[in-house]
Amino acid sequence: MARKHRIAVVPGDGIGKETTPEGLRVLDAAARRFGFELELTHYDWSCETYAKTGKMMPDDGLDQLRQSDAVFLGAVGWPGVPDNVSLWGLLIPMRRDFDQYISLRPCRLMPGVRSPLANRTPAEIDFVVVRENTEGEYSSSGGRMFRGTEREFVTQESVFTRTGCDRVMKYAFELAMKRPRKKLTSATKSNGITFTMPYWDERFAEMAKAYPEISTDQFHIDILCAHFVQHPDWFDVVVASNLFGDILSDLGPAVAGSIGIAPSANINPERKHPSMFEPVHGSAPDIAGKGVANPIAQIWSGALMLEHLGEHEAAAAVTDAIESLLSEGGPRTRDLGGNAGTLEVGKALAEVVGRG
Ligand code: ATP
Ligand code: MG
Repeated sequence: MARKHRIAVVPGDGIGKETTPEGLRVLDAAARRFGFELELTHYDWSCETYAKTGKMMPDDGLDQLRQSDAVFLGAVGWPGVPDNVSLWGLLIPMRRDFDQYISLRPCRLMPGVRSPLANRTPAEIDFVVVRENTEGEYSSSGGRMFRGTEREFVTQESVFTRTGCDRVMKYAFELAMKRPRKKLTSATKSNGITFTMPYWDERFAEMAKAYPEISTDQFHIDILCAHFVQHPDWFDVVVASNLFGDILSDLGPAVAGSIGIAPSANINPERKHPSMFEPVHGSAPDIAGKGVANPIAQIWSGALMLEHLGEHEAAAAVTDAIESLLSEGGPRTRDLGGNAGTLEVGKALAEVVGRG
């Protein structure tokens, strides 16, 4: 019996509808070549669904997705629908309910792609940002007092639990163990944030004792951002709290080149609930419907999904295919200076993956 993985497919809005089919095309080629089966269930949940029904997804939407091993998502959001409807109606409930406490963003300069950093080579930009995705600075705890008066003030509390810190750090250390450089950097700000960040540092130091093979360092978030730009070659795996990770996980893909190739994953490592795989970019209304979006971010997100599902060879075949397509002057979309369409790039990659 072939290994079988159940995938929920949510193309969502805008270019998500164009890139998801190309992601599936490449996944299908990988499944054929490596002998596993993908059982796909399609969900047409999007801002269009919202316009028709007043909801981004049905009331039992999460329960439907819960049946799957992973969710493959395109993009969510459209002009005219506020983020608190689109994101909070679909993406955020999924992250929370499925306890996807790891947000993962590989930042790798691919050959033949220009980084905004001058003279950087692929060997110098190859790191992963691991962001805590459930607590920290983005807690809902806080309040507003004396509204509209001179004495008015607001507070917002950060919540760092031992479990929350330890589990994201453990994931980051384990990830660093699997990579050749075996290096882990922690993002902190314990010189200014005097309770939570020293605690974060303390848990990091404690966890490091269990991983003597890993070399560790830490930087305050402000200088860390500068180092991402000036010394991207210093980094291998970077672990950060929810807010700092949010910042780094936009900066990281930016230094690695086009938004059109950057992949991401929202992971529940214990696999108690489905994890979700989506490109970093949004629905790109300015180019949607034109067939010119770069599908590589979606396809690379598919490789992260294969990795999570234990299909390591297939995952490597997909990233290798992206690498060879880009380095050998294969078709590329406008954002990478070419004139190929979404379909053409998807087909070319599926061909390389299937050929082996
Ligand atoms: P969101 O709020 O949903 O994250 P956004 O406003 O941040 O969306 P994107 O939708 O990611 O922005 O688009 C930002 C810019 O990048 C747009 O000009 C868009 O056309 C371009 N872009 C995004 N994704 C791609 C892609 N896959 N291929 C080519 N260009 C892209
Ligand atoms: Mg955005």
